[in-house]
Amino acid sequence: MFYDVHCHLDMLSEKELKEALQKAEQNNISQIISCSTSFDSNARNLALAKMFPEIKAAIGLYPLEAMELNDEELKKAFSFFKSKIKEETSIAVGEVGLDFKFAKKAEQQKKQIEIFRKFIELSNETGKPLIIHSRFAQKQVLETLEAEKAEKAVLHSFVDSERLMKRAAGNGYFVSVGLAILENNQIQKDITRFPLENLLFETDSPFRFNNEQAFPHKLLDIVSKVAELKKIPIEEIGRAQEISFKKLFL
Ligand SMILES: [Zn+2]
Repeated sequence: MFYDVHCHLDMLSEKELKEALQKAEQNNISQIISCSTSFDSNARNLALAKMFPEIKAAIGLYPLEAMELNDEELKKAFSFFKSKIKEETSIAVGEVGLDFKFAKKAEQQKKQIEIFRKFIELSNETGKPLIIHSRFAQKQVLETLEAEKAEKAVLHSFVDSERLMKRAAGNGYFVSVGLAILENNQIQKDITRFPLENLLFETDSPFRFNNEQAFPHKLLDIVSKVAELKKIPIEEIGRAQEISFKKLFL
């Protein structure tokens, strides 16, 4: 069995969604996690997870979006997250984390870290893993997770530094690798040496890769590449994925 642990299915039209789910099923992808970035996106993902058994929702706010809220709005937002994360079809806290690419000011970064800490607390309290975005802030993400003793985390696209990837795995965290592995030699080298038990897969659908819209069934291209790199059968990766997915999300 395979799992796409990082998608944004709320961004698809009904027709695209139908096609995406059909192709995912044909390709042995049993679960797709749809990550929330805004309030509308949370509402849509919560509804999709109730409609389709193969979709699970991650509840959260994109760091750049969260950063714009005032104290009162944040308080309301977190009481909403606390109630919705308890639903059976909400299996993770995400997409949360740090994005310093468009937040260069110290006070913006400080606020992002404060909000990220609250999400880590929510994850630790509920046992539902964090699905983490980290852009221009991979070291800070790891430091915050360690300081807050985050228990369960999936680091999305966390493939810029082998040293940080190894530190994440050492903490028991997971790294999810996406379509970039198909072309990037450095990622290929790093993933070849990265432990299979800490590895998950994602397509980040529907975001475009190489000018082409991504769909969950493209996960199989990623899995095949990893099988080739690690010189192991695809079935072995499938078995490892099943164990990891259950351990982390169920
Ligand atoms: Zn994402």
